[in-house]
Amino acid sequence: MKKLISLCMMWCICLSMWAGKHYTVIVSLDGFRWDYPQMYDTPFFDRMAREGVKATMIPSFPSKTFPNHYTIATGLVPDHHGIVANTFWDPQRQELYKMNNLKTRNDASYYGGEPIWITAQKQGIKTGNIYWVGSDISVKGQHPTYYHVYDQKPRLTQTERVAEALRMLKLPEEERPQLVMIYFEDSDTYGHTYSPHSKETHRCVEELDALMKYLWEGLQSLPFGKDINLIVTSDHGMATVSADRFVPIKHLLNEKWYSLIDGNLPAQIYTKPEYRDSVYQALQGLNHVRVWKKEDIPAYLNYGSNPRVGDIIVLPDLGWLVEEGNKTLPGAHGFDPTYDDMQVMFRACGPDFKKRYEAPKFRNVSIYSLLARLLHITPEKTDGCLEEVENMLIQ
Ligand code: AMP
Ligand code: ZN
Ligand code: ZN
Repeated sequence: MKKLISLCMMWCICLSMWAGKHYTVIVSLDGFRWDYPQMYDTPFFDRMAREGVKATMIPSFPSKTFPNHYTIATGLVPDHHGIVANTFWDPQRQELYKMNNLKTRNDASYYGGEPIWITAQKQGIKTGNIYWVGSDISVKGQHPTYYHVYDQKPRLTQTERVAEALRMLKLPEEERPQLVMIYFEDSDTYGHTYSPHSKETHRCVEELDALMKYLWEGLQSLPFGKDINLIVTSDHGMATVSADRFVPIKHLLNEKWYSLIDGNLPAQIYTKPEYRDSVYQALQGLNHVRVWKKEDIPAYLNYGSNPRVGDIIVLPDLGWLVEEGNKTLPGAHGFDPTYDDMQVMFRACGPDFKKRYEAPKFRNVSIYSLLARLLHITPEKTDGCLEEVENMLIQ
């Protein structure tokens, strides 16, 4: 029996080598700043850089969790996929979308574009997913082949998520996902609660480094371990903010002029049409913020064409927030993605990646193209492009 099993295993290995089939595991560590490996002791991320590719990735605007995870999944900027913020007003449905409100969050009709798991599945590839934004929502009527519901309690712990990814990859080849996506929230939680420069975040980053090492060793121990690519990256960075760096705006506006002010980083003002100019004029000359009518948002932010974007956007400078002071957490994100503090770590190693290679900075809209190339599938048209990232691949 044992002989038969090992013969079977050999056959599987030969078959996968013959087919040249590679697997890809992509991990998002929420709010993992590009320079955490410089600030803290991260031997595994340093090893990934030596044995693979190291880069800094630029998030899309606004540098928030839902918009950016869904951008990585679809290759579209938030303005184009429609999840334009963690919360936003939808003027067509007259409804406030909130990522924390199950009814709106699970309403698939909010989610435009095509997540990579659907593109892959349409082309016969199985996918596994542990908590990536959008994966437990029936976008285009489909889920990943294997997925978990984020709100189902108890939520999988960090080590259970690693074990679950390995379990998926241990499935018989015909059931096995070729793309596995895993999400971890801790670096974001610690960054917000204690700031990116705290001893708590320090410890969290080092624990995540060890967790990724554990994942990598688990992957390597599989019979086809050498055929697995591992990418570790994030949705946005984290900046230090403080209770004395607030720009109040409400006292400058007549309540009659707007229907909603949503968020403080950026603040989106949904104005009454006849008072749009009044709101805009009243906010001129403020320090530490930039104020735009949605059609005047600078082109590099790729934001403003979607009806869900507020009529007036107030974007604070790095380290500042709009409105209501005195009680704030010490870490925040949502700023202009061109600030270094909003940019994220990217590491990748495995059979398709160059070794010891530092890639130029790239935009997160191009991850979809990278994953499509790794899976040898035809991508949908997106805002990203393979040319931006193929330099990191062994051709
Ligand atoms: P942010 O406010 O941008 O810092 O959002 C971070 C939060 O997003 C995390 O703490 C999670 O609670 C939440 N989150 C992340 N992934 C998911 C998901 N797949 N489904 C629901 N909520 C999520
Ligand atoms: Zn996030
Ligand atoms: Zn966050």
